[in-house]
Amino acid sequence: MPVNQFQSGRHFLQIPGPTNVPDRVLRAMDKPTIDHRGPEFAALARRCLDGIKTIFKTQSDVIIFPASGTGAWEAALVNTLQSGDHVLMVETGHFASLWHKMADKLGVATEFLETDWRRGADPQALATRLFEDTTHQIKAVCVVHNETSTGCTSPIAKIRAVMDDINHPALLMVDTISSLASIDYRHDEWGVDVTVAGSQKGLLLPPGLSFNAVSQKALEVARSGGMPRSYWDWDEQIQANKNGAFPYTPATNLLYGLEVAIEMLHEEGLDAVFARHDRHAQTTRNAVQAWGLEVLCQNPENYSSSLTAVLVPNGHDADAFREIVLNNFNMSLGNGLAKLAGKVFRIGHLGDFNDLMLLGTLSGVEMGLSLAGIPHQRGGVETAMQALTKS
Ligand SMILES: *Cc1c(COP(=O)(O)O)cnc(C)c1O
Repeated sequence: MPVNQFQSGRHFLQIPGPTNVPDRVLRAMDKPTIDHRGPEFAALARRCLDGIKTIFKTQSDVIIFPASGTGAWEAALVNTLQSGDHVLMVETGHFASLWHKMADKLGVATEFLETDWRRGADPQALATRLFEDTTHQIKAVCVVHNETSTGCTSPIAKIRAVMDDINHPALLMVDTISSLASIDYRHDEWGVDVTVAGSQKGLLLPPGLSFNAVSQKALEVARSGGMPRSYWDWDEQIQANKNGAFPYTPATNLLYGLEVAIEMLHEEGLDAVFARHDRHAQTTRNAVQAWGLEVLCQNPENYSSSLTAVLVPNGHDADAFREIVLNNFNMSLGNGLAKLAGKVFRIGHLGDFNDLMLLGTLSGVEMGLSLAGIPHQRGGVETAMQALTKS
C-alpha cells in the first residue's frame, strides 16, 4: 500500500518516542494561549514546577526549558563545566555518543568508556577509572539511564555507590529522556546531581519541553562557574520561577498538558506505571524469543522496560521490514541508529499504552516478519497473550 493512500483507524506510533499522547492531555492543551506574565499563568507554572518534582522524586529545583531533550543535555554541561574540564562518559549507544560529541564541541575534555552497545554502563569499570583519578581531574560522570538506541539501561544507584565508596567528588549527570515516568528513577535517593529529561517519551506529552533536575551541589558549582551561557542559565530560570515566571516565553500550551500528564501518572500511581512497563517489556521479550529472534540487549539486568531492540537475521534489512509494516499496518517502529542501522528494529512500549495496544503492535511485527520473508517461528503473539493472561 503506498504511504500516501488513505489509511483508516489510528496510526500505531510504536517508536520509542515520541509516544502516543493521551486524549486527555491533547484536550488539556487545546486552549487559548494566555498571557505568560499574568496571574493565571503564574499559578499554572507553579503547579507544574512543583508537580514535576514528584516525578523526578526530588525536593530540589527542576528547570523546564522550551526545547527538545538535546537542549537539556547542553544546559547540564554549560552550567556545570568549564572548557578543558575532564568528564567521564560511557558509550552505551547512539544517544551517549551524541551527548559525548556535544561535550567535545563545547571544549570539554571527554573520556569515553566503551561498551559493545549490548549492555549498560558497568559500575566496576567506572570505579576502576575513577579510582585512578587520585587528583580529581574528572569533574563529572555522564551516563544515559535508558539507552534508547539499544534498549539497555544502566544501574544509576550502583554507579552512585561506587563514586561514594571512593569518595570521588565528580558530579553525576544522568540522561533519563526515555526512562523518566517509565522506569523507576529517584533523583534525590540515588544522589544524582543533574537529571536530564524530555517531554515526548514516558511523560505523555508531545515534543517541546525538556528538564534539568538539579542538586544543591550542582547549583553551587553552576553559581561559581560553568561556561558562558545565557538561554540555558539555571539561575535566571530559578529566580524567575519563584514567581511563576520564566526568563523568556515558555511553551504555555505544553505546560497545560504537563499538569494533566503529572495528574494522570499519579492517578495510576508511579509504581503501577513502572510495573506496567516492566510487564509489557517482559511480554515483548517473550514474543521475540518465540519468534526465534534475538533481543539486542545481552545483559538481563540491563533490559529496558521502555523499548526492545530486536536483531534481524544476517542478510535481512530491518528498514525494509519497517517499511512493510508501515505500509501494510500503519505502524511506525523505531529504526536502528548509527552502527545498528538496518540491523535492528525497535519496539516502543512506553508511555500511554495497554495490553491490546501491545498485542496490536506485536501482531503487526509478526505479520510484517512474514511479509518481509524474515525467517522466524510463528506464535509470538500467542505467547504474548498467554503471558498477559497469566495471573
Ligand atoms: C530521544 C533521546 C534523546 C534526544 O532527545 P531530543 O528530544 O530528540 O533532543 C537523548 N537521549 C535519549 C536517551 C533519548 O531517548
